[in-house]
Amino acid sequence: MQTEVIKLDRENMDLDALKRAGEIIKSGGLVAFPTETVYGLGGDGLHEESSRKIYESKGRPSDNPLIVHVADMEHLEKIVKKVPKAAYKLAEAFWPGPMTMILEKNDLVPYGTTGGLDTVAIRMPSDPIALELIRQGGGYIAAPSANTSGRPSPTTAQHVYEDLQGKIPMILDGGAVTIGLESTIVDLTEEIPTILRPGFISLDMVQAVLGEAQIDRGLIANDSNIHPKAPGMKYRHYAPKADLKIVEGPMEQVISYINEQAEKGRTGIICTEETRSRYPKGDIKCVGTRKDELSIASHLFAVLREFDEDGVEQIYSESFKAPGLGEAIMNRLLKAAGH
Ligand code: AMP
Ligand code: MG
Repeated sequence: MQTEVIKLDRENMDLDALKRAGEIIKSGGLVAFPTETVYGLGGDGLHEESSRKIYESKGRPSDNPLIVHVADMEHLEKIVKKVPKAAYKLAEAFWPGPMTMILEKNDLVPYGTTGGLDTVAIRMPSDPIALELIRQGGGYIAAPSANTSGRPSPTTAQHVYEDLQGKIPMILDGGAVTIGLESTIVDLTEEIPTILRPGFISLDMVQAVLGEAQIDRGLIANDSNIHPKAPGMKYRHYAPKADLKIVEGPMEQVISYINEQAEKGRTGIICTEETRSRYPKGDIKCVGTRKDELSIASHLFAVLREFDEDGVEQIYSESFKAPGLGEAIMNRLLKAAGH
């Protein structure tokens, strides 16, 4: 299969191209598209066969459910048993934007999309290209990140092309994404709203809207008997080919430890503007500045991919601090390191 890449300008969107992309989705095909978090691999969320194709092209385990993307609340109302008040509040505060809610699904959503679960994950992205594709594609686009399963999530169309070229008919290229980490997932089927995956929208922000919210214990527990509730969070993710270690502690000690390790072989180093000049040796990648955590989030996955191309033997990263976006950055780094 030939993969067509179409460059789109958000200020002046090529509606004919988006209509064509929508037709591909409606006829059961897949289109990769930008969102503000990462690039998604989209198919018709209400058709099991489209979801099957998504799993197949990514090599994704079929028990790992997909997020259904909508462009308005009316479409959400049509595919769930009921919409709790909390869902309206969260939508009001954060949609369109980088937040996904888990709600009870109705019969319109096939089990092939939800990995066999009676709940469905739903998000309204803010990227105008994504919103228009959803409208043109029939209103429900199931989309996981558009990477080969296990690799870092794609934050540019080029990343998508590296992983999926020849496997899908179309990639919509909207340039580099702004956030760079996947959406915050909030489960509203529990008594207390629970964050199943940290992201740009932090626990504090969710609590400020709902009054009460918590983080899934399975995400932070050291006890291997406690599993994360989002099926996807149990898999090793984002893994670069070389072994990745995260070094925690007072910054001076972190720097000298990493420098000692860098003497031992071809070493990748993930650092920040603040510390870059302190590493004399190694394949040094500055991921952003600590003054602006979004700069770190938006470059993290691209940096992990670059190390694969450079062929380093080991990677050492500085650590980042919770709460807020630091929590989401650390969560992705820990998963990339296999904990
Ligand atoms: P991705 O689309 O690659 O960002 O992955 C979607 C994430 O949402 C995975 O971690 C899934 O396990 C999680 N997810 C999707 N649907 C559900 C659901 N119904 N219940 C819990 N987690 C879900
Ligand atoms: Mg993913």
